[in-house]
Amino acid sequence: MKKVKFCERCVESSERFVGSITFNDKKEDKKTLTSFNNNVCSACLYFDYKSKVDWKEREKELSDLLNKHRRKDGYYDVLVPGSGGKDSRFVAHILKTKYKMNPLTCTWAPHAYTEIGWKNFQSWINSGLDNILITPDGKVHRKLTKLSFKNLLHPFQPFAIGQSVIPIKIALEKKINLIVYGDNQAEVGVGGNLFSFNDKYRNILLQSYNKFEDIHLSGFSIKELEEEHKISRKFLNLYIPARQEEIEKNNIEAIKMPYFLNYNPQSNFYYAMEHTNFEVNPEGRSEGTYTKYSSLDDKIDGLHYYTWFIKTGRGRTTEDAGLEIRNKIITREEGIALVKKYDGEFPKKYFKEILEYLNINEDEFNEIIDKFRPNHLWKKNNSKWELLQAVWK
Ligand SMILES: [Zn+2]
Repeated sequence: MKKVKFCERCVESSERFVGSITFNDKKEDKKTLTSFNNNVCSACLYFDYKSKVDWKEREKELSDLLNKHRRKDGYYDVLVPGSGGKDSRFVAHILKTKYKMNPLTCTWAPHAYTEIGWKNFQSWINSGLDNILITPDGKVHRKLTKLSFKNLLHPFQPFAIGQSVIPIKIALEKKINLIVYGDNQAEVGVGGNLFSFNDKYRNILLQSYNKFEDIHLSGFSIKELEEEHKISRKFLNLYIPARQEEIEKNNIEAIKMPYFLNYNPQSNFYYAMEHTNFEVNPEGRSEGTYTKYSSLDDKIDGLHYYTWFIKTGRGRTTEDAGLEIRNKIITREEGIALVKKYDGEFPKKYFKEILEYLNINEDEFNEIIDKFRPNHLWKKNNSKWELLQAVWK
């Protein structure tokens, strides 16, 4: 049986999406890390690296970059994509107030706004920002989400594709050459892999395409979507990336703020509450985790994290606890107890609405879910699924 490796410092496992968390030796480590240990995940190693960064130097680098893009004609000089969660709020606010930039914000709408998500989105804009909200064709988005759920157990994929594609297209259209991302995705692991220790981490790789045939959505090519699933190409514009040559020609640069400024999810949360009226989940913690301040906007969020848990045995609590352990907000022991208690909790709050949205019944739902349970992670005992390898076992 394939053995899952758990980080000895946090609660992360080797099952996190391929390429995002690594435990392997890589050449890049040795340049920046003094103590390499392959029982420690790359996200934790990244925090070792962070503790050695000269943050004053980095802020100077930020300031120079902003000065390069700053405009005097009153037009927008920076684009901040975001949902109005704590990270995008923090970044847009400091760009405007501390660095005196003129940001335009843009938002790719969730599948279905939660009440608190919509309220926070509104208060974000009301804190003094221009925003472009892009909402995809509801019928098409729903079809793609269903296909993606059935085909990849990834109901979030069409949303995630739009999220990475839309800002670049807005930047091109509005002729804004700098895009600044505030999320801590990188610090969770996505960019926290070992390749991130070098300077490439400063910039985000922009989604683009060279050959149209290479574009895939919900696991299908555009041709397959047209021919087999009757979704016409003309309804897919929002999901099609910009051309590589167009991005290069326009010198669009996209950066991640956590490269320049040393902040953590909790400090952003306090900042967002104090300066922009950010509100936490009024019902307390979100399903599948113990936190009440992250990923609150979309009714489908809970399902998204649940599908992770099915496919990898680690869910939303692992993600949140890992990040909080690295930021010394909680201890590893506390993290393990939280993972045991909340990870993989079934998202029942919006379950009925989700079944309706996906246009499937509960039996079909369970059948799809069970098809994606890897053998080395799941075993059925007396009609109940048991997780075989966990950080708390
Ligand atoms: Zn770790």
